[in-house]
Amino acid sequence: MKDRHGVKAVHTKSGDISADAFVLCLGVFSPLLVEKLGMSLPVYPVKGYSVTVAADDLPISPTLGGVDEENLLAYCPMDKRLRLTATAEISGYSTNHKPSDFSVMLTKARELFGDRLGASAIDYWAGLRPMTPTGLPIIDRAPVDNLFINTGHGHMGWTMSNGCARMVADMIGQKPLAHSNEGMRYGK
Ligand SMILES: Cc1cc2nc3c(=O)[nH]c(=O)nc-3n(C[C@H](O)[C@H](O)[C@H](O)COP(=O)(O)OP(=O)(O)OC[C@H]3O[C@@H](n4cnc5c(N)ncnc54)[C@H](O)[C@@H]3O)c2cc1C
Repeated sequence: MKDRHGVKAVHTKSGDISADAFVLCLGVFSPLLVEKLGMSLPVYPVKGYSVTVAADDLPISPTLGGVDEENLLAYCPMDKRLRLTATAEISGYSTNHKPSDFSVMLTKARELFGDRLGASAIDYWAGLRPMTPTGLPIIDRAPVDNLFINTGHGHMGWTMSNGCARMVADMIGQKPLAHSNEGMRYGK
């Protein structure tokens, strides 16, 4: 909901929420909400796949996350589980998946961690990375008063989350930015 002073409230299932400032951070859905405000955001879905397996199945389970650069396979230990991710697919907003979508990833993962990877169970998942054409997120004031943008982090959203949150907090607090948003401006 917007009036001539900017965004007044966000309409939610639990009622309207009003605030002094609003941050747009809806991942791949960010462009869809602000279309109504006349804004155009170059953020597009890039699908990725992930499996989570039991660490106990592996002869040696890593204690730190890492990336197999040659095979573009990332892994992250999560207590008694190991989560792996790979693949970038441009195929719209669907998060559907089937077992064969994971076969290349599992083959590469077993080369790294042994044939028993996934022996007891495998959780399959697919999600959408909010990508921009430049690969950089959009961190800026919107052309609508009291609306700020923090979206489009693509495959690095977790990694960049603290730095980007700091930049947006500085913008809202009207402080000098701790990190420059050069190359991450709206419409530039
Ligand atoms: C397979 C895969 C692997 C990844 N691996 C890594 C990695 O190793 N390291 C890394 O740094 N990043 C990784 N990422 C990227 C990271 O997950 C994203 O960049 C990050 O989640 C983006 O955060 P976000 O908060 O902007 O969007 P999201 O995490 O997508 O959150 C947006 C939220 O807004 C909600 N929402 C959307 N529209 C509405 C609406 N109209 N009303 C209410 N709520 C709404 C959504 O439900 C969602 O909860 C990976 C992504 C994928 C898909």
